Amino acid sequence: MLRMRYVNQALSGWGRFPVEACHVYRPTKRSEVSAILHSGAEPSYIPRGLGRSYGDAALNLKRGTILFTHLNRFLSFDPAAGILECEAGVSFAEIIHYLLPRGFFPPVTPGTKYATVGGAIAADIHGKNHHRDGSLANFVVGLRLLTPEGQLYECSANRNSEVFWATVGGMGLTGIILSAEIALHRVESAYLVVDYRKTRSLDETLAVMEESDAQHRYSVAWIDALARGRSVLMRADHAAASELPRHLTNPLAIPKRVGLRVPFDFPSLVLNRRTVRCFNRLYYALHRSERLLTDVERYFYPLDRIDHWNRAYGKRGFLQYQVALPLDGGREALQELVRCLADFGAAPGLAVLKRFGVGNAAPLGFPIQGYTLALDMPDSRDLVPFLHQLDQRVAYAGGRVYLAKDAVLRPETFARMYPRLDEFRSIKSRLDPHGRLSSSLARRLRIVDDTQ
Ligand SMILES: Cc1cc2nc3c(=O)[nH]c(=O)nc-3n(C[C@H](O)[C@H](O)[C@H](O)COP(=O)(O)OP(=O)(O)OC[C@H]3O[C@@H](n4cnc5c(N)ncnc54)[C@H](O)[C@@H]3O)c2cc1C
Repeated sequence: MLRMRYVNQALSGWGRFPVEACHVYRPTKRSEVSAILHSGAEPSYIPRGLGRSYGDAALNLKRGTILFTHLNRFLSFDPAAGILECEAGVSFAEIIHYLLPRGFFPPVTPGTKYATVGGAIAADIHGKNHHRDGSLANFVVGLRLLTPEGQLYECSANRNSEVFWATVGGMGLTGIILSAEIALHRVESAYLVVDYRKTRSLDETLAVMEESDAQHRYSVAWIDALARGRSVLMRADHAAASELPRHLTNPLAIPKRVGLRVPFDFPSLVLNRRTVRCFNRLYYALHRSERLLTDVERYFYPLDRIDHWNRAYGKRGFLQYQVALPLDGGREALQELVRCLADFGAAPGLAVLKRFGVGNAAPLGFPIQGYTLALDMPDSRDLVPFLHQLDQRVAYAGGRVYLAKDAVLRPETFARMYPRLDEFRSIKSRLDPHGRLSSSLARRLRIVDDTQ
């Protein structure tokens, strides 16, 4: 049997906390993935895409970590139906590069284009259009899943549906997604018409979102968590070719821009309450309530323009805290979270609020109908105990923490937040009876036992 070698490598998620030594395998063919799984060389394995989850979801301390970045072939494309079939390592950046010029865009996209299709399905990502379109699972026409037992499942919402729903949002623990078919969204241009609206408080932001979100495909609010949650709301729709000015002769071309780069770790003092307050004031002041034409890169991926922007948080890294809160009581819980942040003296570098539409059948799915708040916070000595306190409030309000962003949640709180955990465990043990798929996150949250 083909024996694959690994490289011992220190890896982290995008938050750069934790950093762990993993045994990294780099298959270049799908057949090599099963050879790695069957070699029995490691106690367990976890697939990894581009490592854009923030915490330890794609880490496997001193165990196998299968990197998917070389399994990134486009397998077929049906332009009439807009269905792309590709290997799991294809990134959103590649889809946009090749298919936006032909008039297609990902139906759901995260705030970075440097995520893979496999990683996005495993986290069942949501975009700024969840209130309208739901999560990525709604557009996955089918996927091929390889289990550690060597079984290949073709699954979709109608075929092997239990396996499908456990895999979307299953954080790589049910099997390895080898390839998937995704229904893309047809667009006429690389631009969006963005309706900016400034608000003076969280209450006002929520009221405007409620009243007008349904009229727009996309909606997101940048929140100033240091100033009572005043915000800049950005609601948007893809622009028709006829809405573009004449000088844009190719409506499907993205304007070229010079990229920026954070060349080294900033000293951790750079992002503090005072600098964040200044940045927030400036950001708020620079925006007006107006309608503007903006290209997809600027609207969806503003941070991707700055290479290694995560270094701005310094060597210790940062934690992203993203929660979903139900409609019922969610507003009050959001207000309370913002108050707690202010009392704690937190200086979230970035705070973003969205509304979620209805959730789906995934047992570990994150979205629940209501709200989601995401905050980037520089790591500090007392941050983790503070987040544990917030976790309690979120669980009490019927909410949950997003696993793709998490690095510190405790197992008991996780079980309260995800009441269908046992159902997930039972499907996993059927697909992976010997517990050969595991990750640092799965052990920390006791989804699996800590020997795996
Ligand atoms: C700037 C930024 C903005 C973001 N915005 C959003 C957002 O708006 N909405 C949102 O939902 N998420 C968002 N994310 C999170 C990101 O979309 C998810 O973490 C996504 O999973 C990252 O994909 P990846 O390829 O980097 O996966 P990785 O981080 O490498 O892995 C994530 C999970 O997927 C599993 N996985 C990877 N490949 C496979 C495979 N082939 N088969 C099975 N499992 C696999 C891994 O085991 C792991 O559990 C954002 C992240 C960043 C850095």
